Amino acid sequence: MDNQTEHVCIICGQDKEEGICILSQFICEACESEMVHTNTEEVKYRFFIHQMKQISEQVNV
Ligand SMILES: [Zn+2]
Repeated sequence: MDNQTEHVCIICGQDKEEGICILSQFICEACESEMVHTNTEEVKYRFFIHQMKQISEQVNV
């Protein structure tokens, strides 16, 4: 990957400046904080797990 000046969140698909990178994939601050507060919300939790699996598949080259 080259230098990236903008990040597209893999969860919400929006361009965000602030967030975290997991396995070279970007997750925006809003989604990251939502993940933190998602522990008891099983539906959202499963959604995020699904997204994480996609990340793993993309990274696992
Ligand atoms: Zn997001």
